[in-house]
Amino acid sequence: MTWRNRKVRLLLYGDCEFICKSYGILGCNALYACPYCEGSYSEWQVPLKGPGELDGRDPFPVRSLQSLADDYARYTADGSAKPRAKLVSKSIVREPHFQLNQKM
Ligand SMILES: [Zn+2]
Repeated sequence: MTWRNRKVRLLLYGDCEFICKSYGILGCNALYACPYCEGSYSEWQVPLKGPGELDGRDPFPVRSLQSLADDYARYTADGSAKPRAKLVSKSIVREPHFQLNQKM
């Protein structure tokens, strides 16, 4: 992003609870708790064939600001029921704390 005609790169640090809240994820124990991808807890349990080899599986879709917004829209359209978040919104239950323009 740019600020006063200068490029700025923002980094977000914190523990799992802080990162999940920042991304709008239900929590560290959610089925889809990873802030980086949409892999579920049960999908993570399948061992890899080797480093970087997924045994024929597709890599988990990467989360983005757009996917967070889309998942949150699905959550609210479904009635904002937290028990259903894992089914409708990949465990997204809040808007992210940051609203950034993705164009850099
Ligand atoms: Zn992940």
